[in-house]
Amino acid sequence: MLKPSLSGVPVSGLEDILSPLPRYRAKQIFDWINAGVSSFELMNNLPFSLRRELDERFCLRKTSVLNSVKDDAGGAVKLQISVEGGIIEAVALVDAAGRLTACLSTQLGCAMGCVFCKTGSLGFTRNLDGAEITEQFYHIRGLHPDISNIVFMGMGEPLLNLAGLRQALSVLCETMSTRRVTVSTCGLTDGIVSLADSGPAVRLAVSLTTARETLRRRLMPVSAAHPLDRLKESLLYYQKRQGRRVTLEAVLLGGVNTSEADAAAMTGFARGLDVVVNLIPWNPVENLSFDGMPLKEPSRAELSSFRAALEARGLKTVLRRKKGRGISGACGQLGVCKLY
Ligand code: SAH
Ligand code: SF4
Repeated sequence: MLKPSLSGVPVSGLEDILSPLPRYRAKQIFDWINAGVSSFELMNNLPFSLRRELDERFCLRKTSVLNSVKDDAGGAVKLQISVEGGIIEAVALVDAAGRLTACLSTQLGCAMGCVFCKTGSLGFTRNLDGAEITEQFYHIRGLHPDISNIVFMGMGEPLLNLAGLRQALSVLCETMSTRRVTVSTCGLTDGIVSLADSGPAVRLAVSLTTARETLRRRLMPVSAAHPLDRLKESLLYYQKRQGRRVTLEAVLLGGVNTSEADAAAMTGFARGLDVVVNLIPWNPVENLSFDGMPLKEPSRAELSSFRAALEARGLKTVLRRKKGRGISGACGQLGVCKLY
């Protein structure tokens, strides 16, 4: 049996584990883990006996990097990471200003079945635990020491793994502000309310994709149990409690959700909310179809006219750059960073 990993344990948890040792020991160990050391042996400000005891009871990594693929054009790096029962992915993305964002996974697969998503087509295996989520960050930081932001936009639905997500954030947010963390959800209303009530106070992104109810149900089956009126209610509640701007994400599928009617419905949905709309041109995944037709990317003209239709109605929009597309193509698109 694998020993439990200490990488998913916050300082307070280390204090409990080490009790009755003095508290500063917990902080020392946390700092070592956070600095990326690979063995207890190297924690040279701890007594030998403690290092040995820790080594007998715990490990520092329960996951390992199988492969890393660099996208020369965009500067993105995708890591394939082996976890019990399968492979997950985490991606390091560099923006135009050179800032680095870590895109992390929360589940092995996903049960939500969005028709345009590779992860959705894989089905669901299990939730990742706090250590498996935190270690993705440590693996990325091993390559790039300065990570500015974290986005939970990798494999899986973060709000269906709130326990693992909260555990990981209790570690990651010891050194990074929650304001620099974004959780993306397909729109699970109870999870949004739970975030609003109990935190953590991360930024929220909601994958709306379209605000036409019938179409959304067909693209994102989750919409049947979490219809748009309830989704909007939960977002109004979230904004009342957290006072934060929410990002609406829209994966744009050529000829499917880019009409005037989509723009009008999206504007209606956004009314009364403080939002910015993130437009994400669909990133091709083989063998995905809708309505009996293969899915396709939106054309340039389609993109710009949809964007203009939203802006003309007063919505703020951002067009997502297609960073890292090269690498997802190159390694078979296991399922992550559909975004880039
Ligand atoms: N499950 C969460 C977070 C992971 S998916 C969610 O759905 O929000 C992260 C984002 O990738 C979502 O906005 C999703 O709509 C988008 N996405 C999924 N497949 C995509 C694809 N093939 N191309 C572009 N974006 C995609
Ligand atoms: Fe799951 Fe998000 Fe993909 Fe939908 S888009 S299948 S919720 S990972």
